[in-house]
Amino acid sequence: MELGPANVADASTPPPTGTDPRQTHAETWFETVLDHGFVELIDVIGDDRRCVAAARVSLRREQLSLADHGAEQVERDKGLLARLVRDRHTSPFEHAVFQFRVRAPIFVVRQWFRHRFASYNEESARYTKLEDEFHLPAHLRIRVGKAMDYRYEAMPEPENAALLAAIQAVYDDARQLYERLLERGVAREHARLVLPVAQFTTFFWTVNALSLMNFLNLRNAPHAQAEIQAYAEVIEAMFRDRMPWTHAAFRAHWGPGSIG
Ligand SMILES: Cc1cc2nc3c(=O)[nH]c(=O)nc-3n(C[C@H](O)[C@H](O)[C@H](O)COP(=O)(O)OP(=O)(O)OC[C@H]3O[C@@H](n4cnc5c(N)ncnc54)[C@H](O)[C@@H]3O)c2cc1C
Repeated sequence: MELGPANVADASTPPPTGTDPRQTHAETWFETVLDHGFVELIDVIGDDRRCVAAARVSLRREQLSLADHGAEQVERDKGLLARLVRDRHTSPFEHAVFQFRVRAPIFVVRQWFRHRFASYNEESARYTKLEDEFHLPAHLRIRVGKAMDYRYEAMPEPENAALLAAIQAVYDDARQLYERLLERGVAREHARLVLPVAQFTTFFWTVNALSLMNFLNLRNAPHAQAEIQAYAEVIEAMFRDRMPWTHAAFRAHWGPGSIG
């Protein structure tokens, strides 16, 4: 996937109305994911150099990294940062913080929220009427092989199309009943009971670089479910762009296939 800050929303984007979750903001980096989802990088506090400076404070040398951006100092900072990652001296990476807005199906969000070292706020299905958006994959996966030693294959056509149509019919029925319950005055907190976990929802995710790397290690990995991996790929591209030194060290020392 080709990703980059070039995809930042055009500055001529009209101001948000406050109700459409897909509406982007002028200064953010917005990428669509799955059929109705997205990742929006809203803000970043800190960078590679800030994390090195945090580490150098132990020898009262933080000013070197904060003030001296000359070539020699950059090399020293990169080297120290790589050692910090390699040796799991992790606390300096808590000093860079990323803030995202994410729209994803509930089954993905459920996996995401297991990552406890982060802050979350999610759209409320008690207080708002959820949008008519459900994830429908293009191809259903079949699991082939034994437990602990399996692979996925695409469901062959025409069965794939027939089963997807059956799933869509369930979504349509669920949505119709949801609307009917709301029309009858049933509270939103009860009407939502009929909605499937493919329902899309939006949340804010504020996470430091250390916890973000843990997320990427587990979710942008071959054994992660493909849907959350699609989000993790986008997030990794954003992380790589904002913290390239840390990212390089992370993938050299923590990524799948390395010491893990
Ligand atoms: C492929 C895959 C399959 C999974 N399957 C399941 C499943 O079937 N069922 C299920 O329930 N979960 C499952 N999980 C979720 C998994 O067990 C973790 O809860 C999730 O990945 C969050 O990881 P984490 O705890 O490292 O992250 P965080 O919660 O962000 O924690 C970060 C780190 O902090 C430390 N930490 C956090 N809390 C504690 C604590 N209470 N005590 C000690 N140290 C702590 C740990 O070192 C942890 O790695 C799965 C995850 C993956 C990637």
